[in-house]
Amino acid sequence: MVRALLKRLVSNTLTVAGKPQHHQLRRLNIHEYQGSELMSKYGVNVPRGVAVSSVEEIKKAIQEVFPKENELVVKSQILAGGRGLGTFKNGLKGGVHIVKADEAEQIAGKMLGQILVTKQTGSQGKVVSKVYICEKLSLINEMYFAITLDRKTAGPIIIACSKGGTSIEDLAEKYPDMIIKVPIDVFQGITDEDAAKVVDGLALKAADKNAAIDQVKKLYKLFCSCDCTLLEINPLAETSDSQLVAADAKLNFDDNAAYRQKEIFALRDPTQEDPREVTAAKADLNYIGLDGEIGCMVNGAGLAMATMDIIKLHGGTPANFLDVGGNASESQVVEAFKILTSDEKVKAILVNIFGGIMRCDIIASGIVNAAKQVSLKVPVVVRLEGTNVDQGKRILKESGLALVTAEDLDDAAEKAVKAAAS
Ligand code: GDP
Ligand code: MN
Repeated sequence: MVRALLKRLVSNTLTVAGKPQHHQLRRLNIHEYQGSELMSKYGVNVPRGVAVSSVEEIKKAIQEVFPKENELVVKSQILAGGRGLGTFKNGLKGGVHIVKADEAEQIAGKMLGQILVTKQTGSQGKVVSKVYICEKLSLINEMYFAITLDRKTAGPIIIACSKGGTSIEDLAEKYPDMIIKVPIDVFQGITDEDAAKVVDGLALKAADKNAAIDQVKKLYKLFCSCDCTLLEINPLAETSDSQLVAADAKLNFDDNAAYRQKEIFALRDPTQEDPREVTAAKADLNYIGLDGEIGCMVNGAGLAMATMDIIKLHGGTPANFLDVGGNASESQVVEAFKILTSDEKVKAILVNIFGGIMRCDIIASGIVNAAKQVSLKVPVVVRLEGTNVDQGKRILKESGLALVTAEDLDDAAEKAVKAAAS
């Protein structure tokens, strides 16, 4: 968990004009049907498909788009992978179904509005608001293809594997040698040799090699032109008529490019995001939702990580990572506190502030104001240290709020874990 968090936090602290800017790394993720359309615009072969958000739309969509198809693929649209092997909370197995055309309506009805749980969604799952109905291709070979950014070569890298369709994580573990990586010189762009190396790694069974090279180059063009951070196609497939087709699409985009990718960023779907994170993003807070029972409000990413570790050490689990930053306003503290108190899983809140630039009295006022606006149903443990600490403690004391004060980090974590358990 900590490693995943670190990955998301690395390069969070940017320096702009000598001023440190705390900004949470957020990446835009779009739905498969949107990614597929984008790929098609760049000349990549994709299955024909139509996205619908209600059962009523399906009949008409099928009549218009697939009047002659016998079979169709009905695919749940959620912003997470592993749908094929996922399970709906209503019991339906599989978020991707191949069905007879006249059964598409029925299966879509069991998906729409329902919660799909996959390996990547966490136990809470994600709601399916749209299904993507695609032509059923006869796939004779499923491969893996991705382009992402590589730290080591500081540039784009193409990853390919002759086996795909299933979980690439398992494949990478079992057959690491089957996965080939081709770094691309970002200044030179992709060469025919680069693309040929990728195609060799895919080990095509039937498709034309030169056509495949052309597809790889088009995918690379899309990756660069659209400021992608990830373009993953699993499976990239060969059909019985020897065509290479991108049968799935997972595309992520660099937030820093939002200003020049307005059309793509308009596709953002906040209904698929953690609602706590959506609220936090609006308040410009560095917040990442987790599954535990202790809500944390901390200043500084390092102290926040340390606080989470020490909660674990004392037998608890953090409900979130939250760095209120060095220059948070009182209203941001109020927002942060509201997010923590609205989280039903949170059984205790731990405030751990080392007041440096962030002053203890601001945090204290924020807590008191937030407590006035939301009813405090769970115990709050506070550890304040640093700038204006006495003022901060006085504000808390005079507020009449029932707070547990702590002396140091250890003491605070111990008290929070105990409070959450009682
Ligand atoms: P994911 O599980 O979220 O990655 O969803 P995918 O879009 O990859 O779909 C899951 C699986 O359904 C794929 O790996 C394919 O094996 C299968 N699949 C998807 N589209 C087709 C198709 O047109 N024909 C066939 N035969 N299988 C398909
Ligand atoms: Mn897939």
